[in-house]
Amino acid sequence: MDDLSFILNELGEERDDYFRAVAPPIMQTSNFVFAKVEDLRKAFEDEYSTWLYSRGLNPTVEILRKKLAALDEAEDCLVFNSGAAAIFAAVLANVKSGDHILSVQKPYTWAQRMFEVILPRFHVSVTYIDGTEIENFENGIQPNTAIIYLESPNSWFYQLQDLEAVAKLAKKHSIITICDNSHSTPLYQKPITMGIDLVLQSATKYIGGHSDTVAGVLSGSRSMIERIFNSEYMNIGSGIQPFNAWLLIRGLRTLPARLERITRTTLQIVDFLKNHPRVDQVIFPLDPSFPQYELAKKQMTGACGLLTFLIKAENCKTIETFCDSLKHILMAVSWGGYESLILPKCAGMKPETFNPNNSEHRSLRLYVGLEEADYIISDLNTGFEAIKHLS
Ligand SMILES: *Cc1c(COP(=O)(O)O)cnc(C)c1O
Repeated sequence: MDDLSFILNELGEERDDYFRAVAPPIMQTSNFVFAKVEDLRKAFEDEYSTWLYSRGLNPTVEILRKKLAALDEAEDCLVFNSGAAAIFAAVLANVKSGDHILSVQKPYTWAQRMFEVILPRFHVSVTYIDGTEIENFENGIQPNTAIIYLESPNSWFYQLQDLEAVAKLAKKHSIITICDNSHSTPLYQKPITMGIDLVLQSATKYIGGHSDTVAGVLSGSRSMIERIFNSEYMNIGSGIQPFNAWLLIRGLRTLPARLERITRTTLQIVDFLKNHPRVDQVIFPLDPSFPQYELAKKQMTGACGLLTFLIKAENCKTIETFCDSLKHILMAVSWGGYESLILPKCAGMKPETFNPNNSEHRSLRLYVGLEEADYIISDLNTGFEAIKHLS
């Protein structure tokens, strides 16, 4: 593999092509000119290797593709206008009517929507399994299983799948494996090297890193990516736009530095929360208390800034008061940006259905951003102070 610094600082950048500018230009063009009919004919025959029209290839996007594929240690990748589009293309490209998808339970919302709302119209079925046990994959495979869909760690409770073992099993049955790697980024987990066929991530999160761009990446072998380019990618037409690609190239420059900082701060926050009397449990894949800690250490080299903690609370209102009183940690979906974010599970349910005996109801997902650890901890203390007299 190329050095990380080479990938982020140099790979794909041909400065002689653009006045030796340090930062690559945003090639904001929809189409490209041809001098000879013969050249145009060649472009029509193979759009995967020619500048013809920016719904296909674009030079700014090309720089980004080279870097992202190298980070995943994949032969090639495509960059989409959202992570959801990357999921859609990867799945659609690998099923036909009558097929079955074996998926981990509670995959990302829009993967689940595709499985349950769109695919049944085309006679593609799905079953969900607890992916923490390899036996569940063995038992779940049907004669018509075309895809095993993975997300490791899963959002919110971070259940892992043994990627190497699942890839091996899938190969034996000629099943395509797709893994959502948004949680760990290609810096901290490389599913392709463990035998997974297609790996995707929401670049909206850590790759963009500044909460200003929505994008997605899909990596795999050259033959698979070329096939997806020529059909789903061109047809769905949701390839990333040059300006957004440029923002992601910019984000990549600081990715290792941001992740290092976030990793360090997150460990301090985990430690603070584990020792707080109002906290029942802290769930973080690289904490020794995590049920799959050994597997996490084996296949991930970092866990970035997401953690989930359970507050001791009898009432939904207590959790609401905690969140409402925070001054600096913002309440919002998503993660991976510069700013810390909190998301209480109870926001997704009617307050009257809140059950304090169901620990999931009392869970809050915290994303640790780039702020100072003390700044985040003092804000969490503001929240705990506000619920001091509430049960
Ligand atoms: C955010 C997210 C996605 C979807 O990405 P978008 O860029 O929002 O479309 C997919 N998977 C996971 C795990 C995510 O967190």
